[in-house]
Amino acid sequence: MKKRQHIVAGNWKMNKTLEEGRDLAKDIVERLQPSEVIVVLATPFIHLNSIGNVINGISNLKLAAQNCHQEESGAYTGEISVAMLQSVGVEYVIIGHSERREYFNETDELLAKKVNAVLNKGLIPIFCCGEKLDVRESNHQTQLVENQIAKALFHLSAEVFEKVVIAYEPVWAIGTGKTASPEQAQEMHLYIRNLIAKKYGEELAQATTILYGGSANAANAKELFQQPDVDGGLVGGASLKAEDFITIVNSF
Ligand code: PEP
Repeated sequence: MKKRQHIVAGNWKMNKTLEEGRDLAKDIVERLQPSEVIVVLATPFIHLNSIGNVINGISNLKLAAQNCHQEESGAYTGEISVAMLQSVGVEYVIIGHSERREYFNETDELLAKKVNAVLNKGLIPIFCCGEKLDVRESNHQTQLVENQIAKALFHLSAEVFEKVVIAYEPVWAIGTGKTASPEQAQEMHLYIRNLIAKKYGEELAQATTILYGGSANAANAKELFQQPDVDGGLVGGASLKAEDFITIVNSF
């Protein structure tokens, strides 16, 4: 069985020109120290090939896409398949980021298909889940996250599920500067791990990597990563500056 890992993934979103992206990746490469932490760069599609060449040969530095299409190929103008991502060295794909759910109407049913497409090609989905503020305020967050995970992931067999990485990203914390407290993060991560244990057993639950995302930064990463069920982070804004990003990577 795959071991639980420490992962820090930077989600660049729709930021950086190619030149800026290459500079950022080079800066990260220069500052990165050898460690067990897997560092993932989720760049815009158009930069993947080029950034892949910058990070090539560094064993704990990996390439991710921020999305993919669910079909293998065909008449889907403007879309990118998992095989295309694989062909430029992508190993991880972020699936179900709240911005895709919100602005591109991605449903849990669609996300289940995207998860399948990623896993079928042997890539690793980083599956995002998390509640909006109104849900948190009415204290229904665990129910919502349970639904998201059950609908998009629990059709998988245990052998396939073990490849999945989960990112808990409370929507109210993304890009807002309002981080979940370490206790709030730990509470939800434990809840998710217990869900996995109920469905697939304790061993697989303990082996699953669960990341936190939502205004994680150089100042708060340590406290978050100290929580027993927080295995790393999915980082947006703070991944755009090499110094901050590497501080987060070094926060275990
Ligand atoms: C994200 O987009 O996944 C994210 C966590 O963003 P930020 O760190 O900027 O809140």
